[in-house]
Amino acid sequence: TLSDRLADTFKNLRGKGKLSEADIDATAREIRIALLEADVALPVVKEFVGAVKERARGAEVSQALNPAQQIIKIVNEELVNILGGETRRLRYAKTGPTVIMLAGLQGAGKTTLAAKLALWLKDQSKSPILVAADLQRPNAVNQLQVNGERVGVPVFAPQPGNGVGDPVAVAREAIEEAKRKLHDVVIVDTAGRLGIDAELMQQASDIRDAVQPDEVLFVVDAMIGQDAVNTALAFQEGVGYDAVVLTKLDGDARGGAALSIASITGKPVMFASNGEKMTDFDLFHPDRMASRILDMGDMLTLIEQAEKTFDAAEAQKAAEKLAGGGDFTLTDFLAQMQQIRKMGSLTKIMGMLPGMGQFRDQLENFDEKEIDRIQAIIQSMTPGERENPKMIDGSRRLRISKGSGTQVSDVNTLVDRFFEARKMMQQMARGGGMPGMPGMPG
Ligand code: GDP
Ligand code: MG
Repeated sequence: TLSDRLADTFKNLRGKGKLSEADIDATAREIRIALLEADVALPVVKEFVGAVKERARGAEVSQALNPAQQIIKIVNEELVNILGGETRRLRYAKTGPTVIMLAGLQGAGKTTLAAKLALWLKDQSKSPILVAADLQRPNAVNQLQVNGERVGVPVFAPQPGNGVGDPVAVAREAIEEAKRKLHDVVIVDTAGRLGIDAELMQQASDIRDAVQPDEVLFVVDAMIGQDAVNTALAFQEGVGYDAVVLTKLDGDARGGAALSIASITGKPVMFASNGEKMTDFDLFHPDRMASRILDMGDMLTLIEQAEKTFDAAEAQKAAEKLAGGGDFTLTDFLAQMQQIRKMGSLTKIMGMLPGMGQFRDQLENFDEKEIDRIQAIIQSMTPGERENPKMIDGSRRLRISKGSGTQVSDVNTLVDRFFEARKMMQQMARGGGMPGMPGMPG
């Protein structure tokens, strides 16, 4: 697997001080083979490996991480990036019901997903209605009705008078029904075929034109591997869609399809379906998928801990400086804030922080904007003011607030907080304990 291969390569890298070109090449080769084995499409693999190599070459040699950890961190970040960075949210219609149309091959999991999505929306106080616009298979309407019943969501199905046998008419009529019955979300299930097929595409795009969906979701089985890319491209050309839903992630597919589709179509993966139960469904989380593809949760945790330890050691140095009669200045204070920011954005990248213990809650509540403000204020000070904050009197505070685009009260708060932090540092230095994160707003 990818993780085994990477782990093997990184074993060889461990202990070296710096990334050599040979190290980078060897690593790139392993990542390439492993991604291909995980069914990632070749062009995607090439692009990905290229990006990782370039970043590895340009990377500053981290003081906190060994080369192996550094590369894993880069690989992880690039994966998250390609997978869409942040989780993409559903876009709701500004007026009238939000229409979500599902498209994909037969067996992809559309009908199952329709009901799961309906349940998920219901849990968010929406009032969805399901639409049976798959009139291809004899049992399709009934399957949606059974699923609808399981989740307690009504199903609009062909009836004499609403376009029996014509999926476009049924879909169109369903929107009217939704308006009459005040449903705020309409989920349109459509027919698929076993393979890509012109007639199928035509029908799907006719339904799309008739209902003008707010979101077209392309539903794809994560287990189909390399074929996922061709299918995704065919649907992009034939129907068009806004986002992707991956199904059957409870299988042992490693997520290669997610990486390929997101990279080649440029469309985000929005939802993940991972089981037969109606609740086996969630928003897609790029960071979680990245660690699934890497299968390196443990390694990522180690990386965080290494960085945390490094940061703590830096804080210790600052404390020693104090204990030795040195002075904790606003420059040191700013450096600490920047470290905290680094750790904060790390929590987002990694999506998990075992071992962070005491800092975790504080980091999650930490306001990034506040660090920006603190940084702006300190950077508006003269070097003298930063080294000797006692000299910052009223008129200096006014000047600093103007220079940093903040209020005088912000400057006051910062200066007060700095003196508190300094006191805390001094106390901790005297007590000999490891300082925490002084200056951290509660
Ligand atoms: P459709 O043809 O696209 O409507 O696909 P269906 O919803 O009928 O699903 C096809 C088969 O896949 C059914 O047997 C489903 O129970 C199964 N299925 C759908 N989603 C999942 C999933 O996330 N995990 C697993 N294990 N099976 C799924
Ligand atoms: Mg179906």
